Amino acid sequence: MLASSASHERSQPFHLTNGDCRSIVSGQIVTRSRQPVSPAFTLIELLVVMAVIAILAALLLPVLSRSRIKAEGIACSSNIKQLSLALSLYADDNEDFLVNNYGKPQTLATRNTWANNVESWTNSDDNTNLIYVTDTLFSPYDNRSALIYKCPADRSSSWYAGTKFVPELRSYAMNSYVGTPEANTVLPWELDTSDYRVYRKSADVVRNAPANLFVFMDVNPASICTPSFGVDMSAETFIHYPSSLHQGLGVVSFADSHVESHNWRDPRTRIGIAPGQEHIPHYDPSLGNQDLLWITQHTTSPR
Ligand SMILES: [Zn+2]
Ligand SMILES: [Zn+2]
Repeated sequence: MLASSASHERSQPFHLTNGDCRSIVSGQIVTRSRQPVSPAFTLIELLVVMAVIAILAALLLPVLSRSRIKAEGIACSSNIKQLSLALSLYADDNEDFLVNNYGKPQTLATRNTWANNVESWTNSDDNTNLIYVTDTLFSPYDNRSALIYKCPADRSSSWYAGTKFVPELRSYAMNSYVGTPEANTVLPWELDTSDYRVYRKSADVVRNAPANLFVFMDVNPASICTPSFGVDMSAETFIHYPSSLHQGLGVVSFADSHVESHNWRDPRTRIGIAPGQEHIPHYDPSLGNQDLLWITQHTTSPR
């Protein structure tokens, strides 16, 4: 009887009149008035929402940008740290000798250094062939990684390879007074071996304040070429320029394996490519440049 009664209540007839909407809930008739439907947003409300989103984006984008720049600096430091570790492991396995660090002729002739290419502005596979950074004297110690040779902030594609521009293979170079056999020339520049030390063994470095001797340098993409980072010890000229891609900072490692972000202070050090130029030429004078002085003070020591 109860079921029959409930069924009876639900099936009570009701009637719709114009402007009303009725339904039965638990036997009661609920009446809603039909009002004119208003839009979800007025134009004003939409504009306010868009303005709020724009303000939030304006606040967040610089934060995200700073985070990306910081992450790139950390990744660059990690790359140089791994190169430093490979240098140390190589010496351990090779009677304390530091890895070969060559200029242009020796690199091209032997392909037997820690980085086997010479970046150039010519149509050369040195600019494109990964084997020059995956098959090196460091390969047993760096898992044949090409990534550790490339700074993530280095997005330069100014290197000419046939008819297209390609990213560089390598962003780092090694102090030319470290690992370079004195008997070899380091063209396109010369070492001053009569006045300054050239370090061939780890023990040589240990005797001469390793914390002050730079080894790997994050290099300006418009200046990098040979595995060796050239430093002119006799004149105030840049042979190669350091990178300042991390908001004015570059990354440098030292012979005791510590890695630093270095703030290049002179605006002339944070140089780009001049209009119409492909690269920064060797022996670029920069008189009184405190950054250049810092580099020479951390390159070698007098004999
Ligand atoms: Zn870098
Ligand atoms: Zn060069």
